[in-house]
Amino acid sequence: MSNKQTLSFQAEVAQLLHLVTHSLYSNQEIFLRELISNASDACDKLRFEALNNNALYEDAPNLEVRVSFDQAAKTLTITDNGIGMTAQEAIDHLGTIAKSGTKDFMGKLSGDQKADAQLIGQFGVGFYSGFIVADKITVESRRAGVPAEEGVRWTSGGTGDFEVEAITRAERGTSIILHLRDDAEEYLNAWKLKSVIAKYSDHISLPILMEKEEWKDGELINPADESGGRQPGGMAKTGEWETINKASALWTRPKKDISEEQYQEFYKAISHDHEAPLTWAHNRVEGNTEYTQLLYIPAKAPFDLWNRDKKAGVKLYVKRVFIMDDAEALMPTYLRFVKGVIDSADLPLNVSRELLQESRDVRAIREGSTKRVLSMLEDLAKHDKHEAAAAGVDGVTDVVDADDQAKEGKYSAFYAEFGSVLKEGLGEDFGNRERLAKLLRFASTTSDTASVSFADYKARMKDGQEAIYYITADTLAAAKNSPQLEVFKKKGIEVLLMTDRVDEWALNYLNEFDGTPLQSVAKGAVDLGSLQDEAEKKAAEEAAEAFKPLLAKLKEALKDKAEDVRVTTRLVDSPACLVVQDDGMSTQLARMLKQAGQQAPESKPVLEVNAEHALVKKLEGSVHFHDLAHILFDQALLAEGGLPADPAAYVKRVNALLV
Ligand code: ADP
Repeated sequence: MSNKQTLSFQAEVAQLLHLVTHSLYSNQEIFLRELISNASDACDKLRFEALNNNALYEDAPNLEVRVSFDQAAKTLTITDNGIGMTAQEAIDHLGTIAKSGTKDFMGKLSGDQKADAQLIGQFGVGFYSGFIVADKITVESRRAGVPAEEGVRWTSGGTGDFEVEAITRAERGTSIILHLRDDAEEYLNAWKLKSVIAKYSDHISLPILMEKEEWKDGELINPADESGGRQPGGMAKTGEWETINKASALWTRPKKDISEEQYQEFYKAISHDHEAPLTWAHNRVEGNTEYTQLLYIPAKAPFDLWNRDKKAGVKLYVKRVFIMDDAEALMPTYLRFVKGVIDSADLPLNVSRELLQESRDVRAIREGSTKRVLSMLEDLAKHDKHEAAAAGVDGVTDVVDADDQAKEGKYSAFYAEFGSVLKEGLGEDFGNRERLAKLLRFASTTSDTASVSFADYKARMKDGQEAIYYITADTLAAAKNSPQLEVFKKKGIEVLLMTDRVDEWALNYLNEFDGTPLQSVAKGAVDLGSLQDEAEKKAAEEAAEAFKPLLAKLKEALKDKAEDVRVTTRLVDSPACLVVQDDGMSTQLARMLKQAGQQAPESKPVLEVNAEHALVKKLEGSVHFHDLAHILFDQALLAEGGLPADPAAYVKRVNALLV
């Protein structure tokens, strides 16, 4: 590429840029965090590539970031000597967004600036945040290892397009030159820059350098000025550079030297989340496998939580050298919301993704980190409800979790955001199934909010109750009003109401809790065991006997719709309900699969009738027997949120009887 080229941004980038410039004013200064974080990533990448090609360091082995400004030109420049970009990389990386789910995310934006600013915080704007403070950005870059003539200059005003041209650049790496807007001129001040960098980027392991300044003689001193009593502009550059950050990776420092705010800022820097995390744990694990883990649980779900292909949020370092982002081998999929850093002392520096999958050390790290996350959650749950403490983690010394935080209310906040994802663990992580089951919460016939644990339920079980009863439905209202609950309500037995899409699937993997079987009230014949007294049992048996001829007739009339017809004791007010065979798929799950366009096995439900109900009693000898039988069946279907196979025929039958 020789001469200038003008190119258009990908549509999503243009949209994002518009938003960035219109809705992120309230938190202007984050642009510095984002750009320094990119600079640091670029240095990490160089260090990693140089493991196999030392020549990439050229003659500048010390990786660093330099921040400088020019008051006359109104520019602020962030320069790194990291991996750099080729012209094509600049076009690709700064003109398009590669994140999966970007389109969906853009679709969710409402145009309401406040709401969108919230969302965008979860998306992470990265490089484009420069346009919060700049009306023009120039990027000059040269990739490590390519000739000086193959540099690139990228320029954009942050609207529809950008320009690229070839330049000669002796130094490897990237300079981001921000042409500041009038309302962002406060960043042309060393004091201001240092304070923002201290706040957001102190944990960056690279040195961040700024040019030393000296007082010019005879300048006015104004005590009211925030820069310490001196007027800005009264300083002269000295040509000498000094390191202005601690330049040691946060997780390598002892806990006592890290403030709560620093932990939170580090989280925001690695996650691009604008909200503080719910909790975190920082441990050095010793033993067969040695590593440091700093793991965070976010307060809010990211925009793409439901994408199971979403990359995990844990970064892998080996002996402080960054190896890779999104190391999925380090966390199970159901904990994909966890963010943080794992720094291993044992893995080889040249570890690849493939190798990660097979490494025993990685397996140990993954198990240890999973347990650590679960114990963080147990801790939150304990403080939320003041329950007894749950199990600890083996092999962990120097446990540093965010003990001092107020944890009350945090578990319910966590559960509202991530509870559904956690449930996936029942099917994914057999080894931790019991611990996971303890962390689950549901609504029930005594609580409309998802706050009942299996342990709570068990503590409230009736004398003689032998199972944990639950029902699955599409909505809470449908669950609560389900005819299948009638006898349980009458007898005051609590039933868990499961209305989450994953419940049905997840519960396939959980047959019991702490020795008590789980029983769906919509599956199989109802067996209340010793909750039913002898008189009730006898009455039920007699009814079944007396109804035999009627049942046979019903079965014949409904043979295309129902697998079987039987008398039940589970109903009190309703004439009939549908249940599935013990081993069958629930009608709710089957319906969900069909809605999702998937093949659901065709299995017919069982119709259960209430022998005490007037409508059922009326069946015997009725001239409308056939129509009544079908109405009974279709109504049972309607009651659980389904639709009759032939709605028009149903309406016709009901109308005929009404007339
Ligand atoms: P993200 O950092 O989340 O990938 P950004 O929009 O911040 O998104 O950056 C997009 C891409 O541009 C980066 O992934 C990287 O490839 C490239 N990039 C940005 N800043 C630099 C830099 N200072 N040096 C090299 N590449 C960079």
